[in-house]
Amino acid sequence: MKKISVYRPTSIEEAIQILSLHGTDAGVYAGGTDLLIRLKNRLKQAPTFLVDIKKIGNLRYIKETPQGGVQIGALTKLAEIAESDVLAKKYPMLVQAFKMISSPELRNASTLGGDLLQEVWCQYLRGAYSCWRNGGYICYGAIGDNSYYHSAMGGRLCYAVYPGDAAPALITLDATVKIAGPSGIKEMSVEQLVPGDMMVDGRIQSHVVRFNEILTEVVIPPPNAGFRASFEKLRPRGVWDFAMASAALGLQLRDRTIEDARVVFGGIAGKPYRERAVEAFLKEKTLSADLANQALAAALANAAPLKYNATKIDMAKGLLASGLDKLAAS
Ligand code: SF4
Repeated sequence: MKKISVYRPTSIEEAIQILSLHGTDAGVYAGGTDLLIRLKNRLKQAPTFLVDIKKIGNLRYIKETPQGGVQIGALTKLAEIAESDVLAKKYPMLVQAFKMISSPELRNASTLGGDLLQEVWCQYLRGAYSCWRNGGYICYGAIGDNSYYHSAMGGRLCYAVYPGDAAPALITLDATVKIAGPSGIKEMSVEQLVPGDMMVDGRIQSHVVRFNEILTEVVIPPPNAGFRASFEKLRPRGVWDFAMASAALGLQLRDRTIEDARVVFGGIAGKPYRERAVEAFLKEKTLSADLANQALAAALANAAPLKYNATKIDMAKGLLASGLDKLAAS
């Protein structure tokens, strides 16, 4: 592992100053479950200067807003979200999704901000191959073994899937984030936060947070009466592994009529993949036992699997059907 220096700022402002000083040579260090492995994997884009934000006191909380929503600090542990009574009552799907992230040990170490902004887990990148994402001029995932960590919905330079489970679940709940930077706080939806591979400050990354910005908070709006949601996930083993495919569904119901729908797939594309065709199909339909079969016909028509990962599309469709069936039966 290369030599690193660690800063321990005590305020967001100080952390942003340090990040601004070192440019892309610096990186935010929170739970460490992604960053330290990036360093161990000897990735070229791994930072030399770690800005440890754990000493910043006001980034770890779950608070109800006066309007009935919830604010979650970016340093809140995944386990704290999975075990929160407040969240279980207001957003049971979110708690269900977080209980399926990785393993209990990692949920105790990983933070919400880290899960949202984590680097992709393509085996070629993590093996320090000189690919596009690691400063090279080729994508090994597009031509090699792409059965697990790679997009079945197309790509540009990099074909790695966005690996997180928090983002698909939060997009279904219309959550937003706050990002602190040198010019103050900016807000955006979680969907805007992780738009898929793009060049930011000279690096390919899945999110839009710049080198001198810090994700500070996630805000979830109040749950509406008649909102029902589900989260389904398939992975090779029952713990630890990332999703081969996942599906977060949210239905706003008036009696049994679907007034609005959110359908977000994980593990199959370079971003949480919001399937607007299925959302449009579901509107004004009656939630019933035979709805899943009809919805599948509208799902993932733009699939573009690579040589070894077409099964991800079958899995995603199966999860959509399973989620709709469960909501119809509830
Ligand atoms: S999928 Fe992305 S991370 Fe993997 S080899 Fe291709 S460019 Fe690199």
